[in-house]
Amino acid sequence: MVGNTTVDPLAWASAVIKPEIDEVRNTRTGHVFDVRRLIRAFRYERAILLRQKLKALVKRDEARLVCATCSVPVYVACSTTKQFFFRHRHEDGSCPAITRAQLSEADIRAMKYRGAQESEAHKRVKALLLRSLSIDPRFSDVAPEKTWKASEGLAGLRRPDVSARTDTHRLAFEVQLSTTFMDVVLSRKEFYRTEGAALVWVLPYFHPSYRRMTDDDILFGNNSNVFVVDERTAAASEAAGTFIMTCWYRKPVIQGDEIIDEWVERMVRWDEVMVDVDRQANIVFDYAQEAARLREELKAARLERIAAAKDAARQAQEERENELREQVLRFLLNVSSNDGDLPRYKTWLVLNDSLRFIGYGFDGDNPDLQTATRIVHLIESARAGKPVGFRYKSLAELGHHLIHQHPELLLAFGYMLRKFGTRDALYSDDRTGKLRVKLEAIRSDLSRDPKYRMAADEERFCAFLSGGASRKSRPENDNPDNSSRAAA
Ligand SMILES: [Zn+2]
Repeated sequence: MVGNTTVDPLAWASAVIKPEIDEVRNTRTGHVFDVRRLIRAFRYERAILLRQKLKALVKRDEARLVCATCSVPVYVACSTTKQFFFRHRHEDGSCPAITRAQLSEADIRAMKYRGAQESEAHKRVKALLLRSLSIDPRFSDVAPEKTWKASEGLAGLRRPDVSARTDTHRLAFEVQLSTTFMDVVLSRKEFYRTEGAALVWVLPYFHPSYRRMTDDDILFGNNSNVFVVDERTAAASEAAGTFIMTCWYRKPVIQGDEIIDEWVERMVRWDEVMVDVDRQANIVFDYAQEAARLREELKAARLERIAAAKDAARQAQEERENELREQVLRFLLNVSSNDGDLPRYKTWLVLNDSLRFIGYGFDGDNPDLQTATRIVHLIESARAGKPVGFRYKSLAELGHHLIHQHPELLLAFGYMLRKFGTRDALYSDDRTGKLRVKLEAIRSDLSRDPKYRMAADEERFCAFLSGGASRKSRPENDNPDNSSRAAA
């Protein structure tokens, strides 16, 4: 047949011969219809009107007919030859009725059975909800299926499963079903937020290890709290004379250094439910806040661990350095020491390598043992307040010696005398005052003339072995004006 097919408005509507969706279910009554028989029960003009009505209901999230197999809302479509059939609202090819090759007849029958059961569950939960709310005097205007018109000129209307009112809130209760899709959840949230009312999703059943996608939409959209109304909670409500539900919520806990979830199932009175209309979240336990707190706690603990590890590492390094310092000082102060079979110079090479490894050794392949020994004697003389290892009787004599033979050691010597508190000893033997005069004369050159400067590696060596005493004090510890005078 070519061209337009015109059908007498009063003729019986006809269905396509092999419809993909062969059965649909009424979500309110739970009745399942054979699609071909359903379509043929309408006159053509009525079928066209039905088509428009179903489409409008689907758009308003109030679909009455769903695919009996996959429970997705359906609407009526019409072929070019004016034959009717049903289409899924979300035609994403996931319906087993369309991809039936992967499922056995028995599987499809089982799915349809579950869908039909769900309609029963819906009716049951709604009745239980009405029973539970009616017993509690704090709830007024408790009503099923009451049309809720948008106020203040906003478009749309909703028909919550049960509506009610307390002194503080207008409430809409919706029973969550597998037909409740994410966009439905979101659009209803938006509607009731604008209305200044709280939307409470109620599940017929929940278990954390058996969650449908739609359960998760509700759960995660509600700060990880879900509510269940069943025979048990209705009985509890009636016994207590107050509205009681079961709340399942995730509770974050710290295990080791990570956060894991525990599930808590608890019967709760309505007083325990914190209603937040702006966020459209009605919760018993604030998962997000607790998780954020625990994350901070973990972070603090982690920083503490890092700091402790750094401290320990620093302490271990300090201990290694102290040990090496003692070893080097002992070796250089003991002139006759031959370490076992190793000749003295070879022992020195080994020690210098250890020093070099941490940045305090002499550079070059032939580090001078005599220079090292002299520096150590200088340190010990300053520490003792009398010559150690030098052939002089007093620090004053040592001072003259340094001025003439080792001017590069003068500054370090001065800093150490000051640091070790032995500066008086320098002048107590300077009876003629000559040393003081000489030092006074060179004082201004000490910081400028390169001859008063140690080689960089020797300076580091000296600073390490003297524990930093050979260096000018930091400004915050000492007045810089005085420290340059320390050498004098
Ligand atoms: Zn389907």
